[in-house]
Amino acid sequence: MTAQLIDGNALSKQLRAQVAERATALKAQGVTPGLAVVLVGDNQASQVYVRNKVKACQDSGLHSVLEKYEADMSEAELLARVEALNNDPSIHGILVQLPLPAHIDAQKVIEAISPLKDVDGFHIASAGALMTGMPGFWPCTPYGCMKMLESIGYDLKGKHAVVIGRSNIVGKPMALMLLQKNATVTICHSATRDLKAQTLQADVIVAAVGKRNVLTADMVKPGAVVLDVGMNRNDEGKLCGDVDFDGVREVASHITPVPGGVGPMTITMLLVNTLEAAERAAAGA
Ligand code: NAP
Repeated sequence: MTAQLIDGNALSKQLRAQVAERATALKAQGVTPGLAVVLVGDNQASQVYVRNKVKACQDSGLHSVLEKYEADMSEAELLARVEALNNDPSIHGILVQLPLPAHIDAQKVIEAISPLKDVDGFHIASAGALMTGMPGFWPCTPYGCMKMLESIGYDLKGKHAVVIGRSNIVGKPMALMLLQKNATVTICHSATRDLKAQTLQADVIVAAVGKRNVLTADMVKPGAVVLDVGMNRNDEGKLCGDVDFDGVREVASHITPVPGGVGPMTITMLLVNTLEAAERAAAGA
């Protein structure tokens, strides 16, 4: 069996067109959805990420503001900027690009963002909302993975999902989202004793580790769906995921490529969350 690709670029295009339509409808009511992206310091990768986020907003008709600050900005100054953005009615979503310089407490900054504008879904209130099934913002990467499963019409009810990785931004929220859709969920991590024994039982595998070839063909049940969140570089310096793509695609029923899989979906879900924040604000929620 050669797996079908779940194409994150194609799905993103569809979803971004819907975002653009909804943005146009909101603008007709006098509300332009707005995202503020805050970058502190000169981390090269972060600069690329924020540029891509701002461009994606513009392409979908969302207003976006990029605030760039020197690496020696104080924590107090950054907190003051976040507070100003919390009170700015033209801004519906606030994203502080991580990592922040070491002298700034990133968690403190995230907690300073209004949960109503927490479009990254990293605030503790957003995490609590996800855990309890209340309305809130879901972290963009696992949310994108859920949209990819939805796009292939995959019914998670009663299925066994194995998530490899337990970070607060990917693994844990991913597991909660799968659970909310009635999957039976196993979370694996660096102390998991026999990863292969777990993954071989899975109908769905999400790999979110950050190491090449964490998942190989012998670890996958025939017909399983495999989502690859990892972003690594291979020996030639090319972007690759956590999954041995060439091997696993011969066993799985569906697989996400890297690049062109989960990556574009992450930015797309940021647009979706920003639009949702603007719609809620417009509705007075
Ligand atoms: P992270 O915070 O470093 O978490 C990695 C997780 O993998 C940890 O829970 C760790 O376990 C676990 N782990 C490490 N080695 C393992 C092993 N051999 N077997 C099983 N589990 C193992 O990373 P993250 O932020 O979640 O990101 C994960 C990957 O996704 C990275 O490559 C990152 O670049 C990528 N990513 C991609 C996107 C995107 O848009 N495509 C977005 C976010 C992240 P412990 O908890 O025990 O240490």
